[in-house]
Amino acid sequence: MANVVGSAVGIFLLLFPFILWCCLWGFTTKAVVINRGYESEGRKYFWYGFWFGMFAVIVAFSKPQISDTVQPFAPRRVTPRWEPDGVVLDNGGIWKCTCGTVNGSGVAVCQCGRRKVDVLAEQGGTRR
Ligand SMILES: [Zn+2]
Repeated sequence: MANVVGSAVGIFLLLFPFILWCCLWGFTTKAVVINRGYESEGRKYFWYGFWFGMFAVIVAFSKPQISDTVQPFAPRRVTPRWEPDGVVLDNGGIWKCTCGTVNGSGVAVCQCGRRKVDVLAEQGGTRR
């Protein structure tokens, strides 16, 4: 029994720096994604960062900005690199999110995590 406990501790001690390193990437990825306005995906991206490290951070950075929070890592882009397809289906009522989901007038936050005000602001900012 002592051997089992001993090897468990040994494995833990071997894995500990590795887990710490993974957590570091996890928190970095989560911070980037939340900074870009994806609060609801922070947990998911923590695990992406945990398992995929630098690659997950790159993926997080490639996500379009959907919030007005200040980015400490990169200068804010004036024009988005993507074309939002969100539309208001009637006057301030039913709205279609950028992700394609149609939401009722009482829905303030889409199931994808985008806020109605942000989706509408994106449309206003990029309408030609
Ligand atoms: Zn959505």
